[in-house]
Amino acid sequence: MSQQTLLEVRGLKKYFEAGRPGFFSRTVRHVHAVDGVDLNLRKSEVLALVGESGCGKSTLSLLLMGLEDPTEGMITYDGQNITHLNDNERKSVRRKIQMVFQDPYESLNPTQTIEEIVTEPLVVHGFDGSHAERGEKVKKALEDAGLRPAEVYMKRHPHELSGGQRQRVVIAGALVLDPEIILADEPVSMLDVSIRAEIINLLAELRITRQIAVIFITHDLGSVGFFADRVAVMYLGRIVEIGTMLDVLERPQHPYTKALLSVIPVPNPRMRRERIILQGETPNPIDLPTGCRFHPRCPVAIATCKASDPALIPLTKTHQAACLLLVK
Ligand code: SF4
Repeated sequence: MSQQTLLEVRGLKKYFEAGRPGFFSRTVRHVHAVDGVDLNLRKSEVLALVGESGCGKSTLSLLLMGLEDPTEGMITYDGQNITHLNDNERKSVRRKIQMVFQDPYESLNPTQTIEEIVTEPLVVHGFDGSHAERGEKVKKALEDAGLRPAEVYMKRHPHELSGGQRQRVVIAGALVLDPEIILADEPVSMLDVSIRAEIINLLAELRITRQIAVIFITHDLGSVGFFADRVAVMYLGRIVEIGTMLDVLERPQHPYTKALLSVIPVPNPRMRRERIILQGETPNPIDLPTGCRFHPRCPVAIATCKASDPALIPLTKTHQAACLLLVK
């Protein structure tokens, strides 16, 4: 795999205003949706971004797409700072970073044919080739998305297709622009279990055939095991652990990652994992806990965790053995 970095994120934050705590209060409260994320993505790499709903992973993907403006931090794509772009500059970057949303039913216009749906991105981005070249691109995108032969599908409407076929049309609509990165936000969670593996296999295939890097956003750590190169685990707006897929799945360091892994069913009935059930709900991202933001739910928390962030906590030997957070 090439080591060329395509996308780099440094200190990225996104806070949303959440009103004032009281009528007379001057303080404006904020939802800390993304709160200091560092990340990079290499060419044709698959990075899984995993976390519970509300952890900030979808907001992070909107920031990467330029659909939200960051409060702080920097995003570079292919060496170019793309943090704040005007509409024209954004348009040319967006050709290269495409998004696949969770719900193929919502993403497709029911009145258009599949051909029209996949042609539309070319029109929006001002494709200047001939009519025949445009048709060829649409056909290739459909076939690369697994809808072969393309002619069978082009004149149909979304309601004539299965859920899996519709998600392939959504992917074809991204492929037609020859992207270098696909941001797939829970792309299989609305699909039948039997079809999920097909879509994941398709994304795995595209990183080889088209050299596309994929950020695969999911709440299900079990679904990324066989195709992600690296896994980033997100909790309350921060990445708490990142590593190669093997390291994270076999040697998780953070207690939160361990808890996520412990509830994934193991296919071998003779192997048992001790289930770690986290107590309580994810804290409110408006009123973040002091110290380590995982401490209210952490099964191995000690008193110090309430006061200091992991990077600052002087971990004792026993605490370190339980927590294993890397002290910077
Ligand atoms: Fe748990 Fe403390 Fe480690 Fe945070 S620093 S993950 S609360 S043990």
